[in-house]
Amino acid sequence: MSITNKPVFCLSLYHNEYKKLMIHNIERERLNLKTAIHKGEFWKPCPGTSKDYLCCGYQILTPLTGCGMYCSYCILQVYFDHQHQTCYENFDDLEREVHHKMEERISAVVRFGTGEFGDSLYQEDKLGLSRKVADVLDRYNNVLVEFKTKSVNISTLRQIKNPVKAVIGFSLNTFTMAALLERGTAPVLERLKAARRCEEMGFSVAFHFDPMVWYDGWEGEYRQIVSMIYDHIKDAKSIAWCSMGGFRTMPSLKNELRNRSIHLPLFAGEMILGADGKLRYPRPLRVSFYKAMDEEFRKNQPDAPLYICMESQEVWEACGMYGRIPYGLTHFLDERAKTILSCV
Ligand code: SF4
Repeated sequence: MSITNKPVFCLSLYHNEYKKLMIHNIERERLNLKTAIHKGEFWKPCPGTSKDYLCCGYQILTPLTGCGMYCSYCILQVYFDHQHQTCYENFDDLEREVHHKMEERISAVVRFGTGEFGDSLYQEDKLGLSRKVADVLDRYNNVLVEFKTKSVNISTLRQIKNPVKAVIGFSLNTFTMAALLERGTAPVLERLKAARRCEEMGFSVAFHFDPMVWYDGWEGEYRQIVSMIYDHIKDAKSIAWCSMGGFRTMPSLKNELRNRSIHLPLFAGEMILGADGKLRYPRPLRVSFYKAMDEEFRKNQPDAPLYICMESQEVWEACGMYGRIPYGLTHFLDERAKTILSCV
């Protein structure tokens, strides 16, 4: 692909659209918190979306859906037919389901996450759901749970009895992209400071660069944030894992945003349809993201536990990273989890 074909994320165009975003009802609706009874399963394996991509083998627990913040690219905009947050009142059913299903998983490590259909910590000070989930899982020495967030709502996490069995994952982006694409999230610098506080509380921490967005100046700015992680974290060993993924989304999000006439610069330039039916940047651009990030991580931590989200073996190989997961991505992350849990 020639460099002239690269997607150009037009910052000035985005600033004009931003005004429309300010008045959009979606932000107001997202602040509403409702309650409901969840009738289906609370625990589901990560769908993996396509066998062509290496999956991380995550297990998803969902005590709450929705998010009071608003990111332009948030898939929840099309995933649900509403924007409000929903807290499930029947937490007891979640607890029963976990204990029942764990009977068949007494030895192999299980990695849970609660941040798939919402932000794990946005409501933590009010609802304490992450603390409750950690309590439910506390009896299992083969279980690690990750709470993912773009907030800094961490003070009540002190109540978690065994912080060593939980990972606090911070989603990061460059200062430019956070300013343009996120509303209501904590400033990136505050997230890094919060990560340090979590480390001091005894938690492992994680960092996620997903989505990475292509724009003029992306490389220097993403590298800057990677380097800032290591300026803030006291001991690199407390980093459970870091992930990265180029912007990709269901085509229905593009249609939805087009109908509202907002955020279309996200889709500027060429995007292709991946094996999972999602729009994504062409492979050479994605590979440039991952190579640059891998190089920057390794500069700071030669054995950084960095992985790529939802990419093929070919992409891992093109980035020179495939040799680090000889037994697959799931195995690689399970081994990280075992190392962390060995301190329990
Ligand atoms: S923080 Fe996550 S869940 Fe919340 S709006 Fe942003 S992408 Fe969506």
